[in-house]
Amino acid sequence: MTTGYLSPKLEVRRAPEKGGSAVYALKSVKQHELLAVWGGQVVTLDQVLALPRDEQGHTIQIYEGLYLAPLDMEEPADCVNHSCNPNAGIHGQISLVAMREIAAGEEITFDYAMADSSSFDEFDCACGAPTCRGRVSGSDWMLPELWRRYDGYFSTYLQQRIELLRKK
Ligand SMILES: [Zn+2]
Repeated sequence: MTTGYLSPKLEVRRAPEKGGSAVYALKSVKQHELLAVWGGQVVTLDQVLALPRDEQGHTIQIYEGLYLAPLDMEEPADCVNHSCNPNAGIHGQISLVAMREIAAGEEITFDYAMADSSSFDEFDCACGAPTCRGRVSGSDWMLPELWRRYDGYFSTYLQQRIELLRKK
């Protein structure tokens, strides 16, 4: 059962070289435009860790200790891949918006550091961006360089943590 939303300007394509699938723009998208809303079931970390490995990779953290887990592995909004040089960012906790104008044919990506602060979904990254971190970890959100590049595009709970760290 699909519970999320994907803009009709986007489409999911098979991309085995990217781990299964990827989302591409069919039409150009303006800056700040809504791209996707994640749906699913709200679960705790213990519940996430009880999921099969591939399903863990499709969860997104939405608050301190809370995650959104898909009800369906074919959920289109969950097919958006990570990039260390993304064109999309998070608005609130469950919405993905364009950080800049996106041309037709471009892949839609966001940086998983914008939402994730847990260690269960760490992976080696080969996104090819000059800014590629090589390894994406659950503590990347703490990098001040990312605070500058993604200001306003972190999940609300992380933006709150960052504001506290900035005051120190
Ligand atoms: Zn990368």
